[in-house]
Amino acid sequence: QFRRASRLDPIGVSEILTIGAKAAGMKRQGAPVIILGAGEPDFDTPDHIKEAAAAAMRAGETKYTPLGGTLELRLAVQAKFKRDNGLDYGLDEITAGTGAKEILFDAFMASLDPGDEVIVPAPYWTSYSDIIRIAGGEPVLVPCGSNTGFRLTAEKLQAAITPRTRWLLLNSPSNPAGAGYSAADYRPLLEVLLRHPDVWLMADDMYEHITYGGFEFATPAQVEPRLKERVLTVNGVSKAYAMTGWRLGYAGGPKDLIAAMKVVQSQSTSHPSSISQAAAAAALNGPQEVLAERRAGFQARRDLVVEALNGMDGIECPVPEGAFYTFADCAGVLGKRTPKGAVLETDADFCAYLLDCHHVAVVPGRAFGISPYFRISYATSETELQEALTRIAAAVAALA
Ligand code: PLP
Repeated sequence: QFRRASRLDPIGVSEILTIGAKAAGMKRQGAPVIILGAGEPDFDTPDHIKEAAAAAMRAGETKYTPLGGTLELRLAVQAKFKRDNGLDYGLDEITAGTGAKEILFDAFMASLDPGDEVIVPAPYWTSYSDIIRIAGGEPVLVPCGSNTGFRLTAEKLQAAITPRTRWLLLNSPSNPAGAGYSAADYRPLLEVLLRHPDVWLMADDMYEHITYGGFEFATPAQVEPRLKERVLTVNGVSKAYAMTGWRLGYAGGPKDLIAAMKVVQSQSTSHPSSISQAAAAAALNGPQEVLAERRAGFQARRDLVVEALNGMDGIECPVPEGAFYTFADCAGVLGKRTPKGAVLETDADFCAYLLDCHHVAVVPGRAFGISPYFRISYATSETELQEALTRIAAAVAALA
């Protein structure tokens, strides 16, 4: 009989996956389910990127590459950090992995000893806590609700720091709330870190290029150069260039950390696919207009969703600064009764009601460490979104 490693004991099955599987099962049986769960853009990878991958294959770039990525890719990442973020990283301060997920995994495996703590503001991308736990660390979850724009405050950060704190992990714009930290939002947090020289900062900038309105993206190593020597700036091509399946993420950071991350990588993936590396280099070096076009499309959908949700009794949806998610407060529907007589007690009850009775799959806040909220991913067609919102409105109106 299979005996699972105790290392996995603290790791549950993600509620996002459970809901996705249930919704997919209902769909297979013919129910007209709309799934607003996916964390990936619904458009295709731009052609010039695919062409670069095909050209790389034809040119025989089908062999092992150096750990941490080809010179071509690292040069492209280096130029990207300079161009977009004003950051100077040497080639030995840059690495690439099989998705930003591997970057996070390598960094935590390379730096955490058992019991070391990582401060993670909630709501947070669910993988954070599990990766930290697999690496032997302890996620210290700090609830940051809509009253602070889903952003960590200096006071909460200060209170969460202990002698075991190794990292603060920030994500802007964020999954699931779409909350962004401007340079001014970052500053008080970085001030706290300046007073705690043993605490490092991981900045997950995955949604850098998906921002709206007047929000100006900033990244901590640029905002506070004195911290650069203990910041890992994480990014990737998945969301910006619609390349989730290519599995390519990258990071810039202090060379000792990067070298230790490569040790972890050397015994797991060795490196991302050589073809994906060529494609990612083309994405970073090539025309960037596609980013603005996609941003405008996402913004129209964001506005559609936010407006519709705020028109529903008991739902309050703050306006996200970026990414392609809304994270709405559903406290106002709790305590109400469904037409079948069930009382909605939690955000998970509300989401189960939406799926079971109105065939819309969304994810409860509890999956992201904070309640009562629910996340909608609006990276789907406007027609589908319209239909889903009509159903959610009907579901909310039917509550008594
Ligand atoms: N960071 C955040 C906040 C994400 O939402 C995701 C994907 O959902 C990732 C990182 C990982 O991206 P990838 O591994 O595709 O590069």
